[in-house]
Amino acid sequence: MEEQKGGLLLVMAHPDDETFGAGGLVLRHTRAGIPTYLICATYGEAGWMGKPLDAKKENLPEIRAKELEEASAALALSGVELWDYPDGRVAQSERRQITERIWEQISKLRPRAVVGWGPDGGYGHPDHIAMSAFTDAAVSAMTEGDRPALYHIAVDKPLAEFYTEAMRLAPTRNGFHVRTQEQVDVVIELDPDEVMMKLRAIDCHRSQLEDWRIALRDHPRLMQQGYGHEPYIAVASRAAGLTEKGLLGEFV
Ligand SMILES: [Zn+2]
Repeated sequence: MEEQKGGLLLVMAHPDDETFGAGGLVLRHTRAGIPTYLICATYGEAGWMGKPLDAKKENLPEIRAKELEEASAALALSGVELWDYPDGRVAQSERRQITERIWEQISKLRPRAVVGWGPDGGYGHPDHIAMSAFTDAAVSAMTEGDRPALYHIAVDKPLAEFYTEAMRLAPTRNGFHVRTQEQVDVVIELDPDEVMMKLRAIDCHRSQLEDWRIALRDHPRLMQQGYGHEPYIAVASRAAGLTEKGLLGEFV
């Protein structure tokens, strides 16, 4: 990754986490000219297939890497580190090595804020939970003056209600149960233009679009309500300007 200090670093587990989980936050920052970087721990090769219809299991890593590349361009990310830890088994991987590699990237990029999964992994995905722990450990290991603010992706009650309603549009066996947080610290509310930009990035992850996400396009009000609402928890923040408008307080 190219070095440009003072930005935002996302540490995620799978291609699509950055967009589905934090696409609006990323767009807010990149559109304001703030360099935003992504670490993605796996190629997502265990992700469910069938879309596109001719997708073969052995091609999935390549397909998902390409999708991530397109989504990164749609989000205007400054750099992406795609690692090849085993999808679904990040927790059984090189715990120490992953933590050290995250630490190295933080030391190199010197972001003002790091955004990762919370200990609930959003909906309990073991890779998300593992990456949350490694990211927290890497941030904690930075010396105090160099330590960036740390935020976790969260689900609040309105977002949980959105998922319930949206998944009803096209029920599948692949539905997930989100873990709801009673209290969150920051909620990014996207305007309709931003939601459309986020949707363009979401659509890049073609192999991962559940039927409800496709059906959702015919329900613009619901889409705005869900894709336009991104809650976060401030884990340890030394960034003074914690506002509703931007994690870094630069959008007042
Ligand atoms: Zn994921």
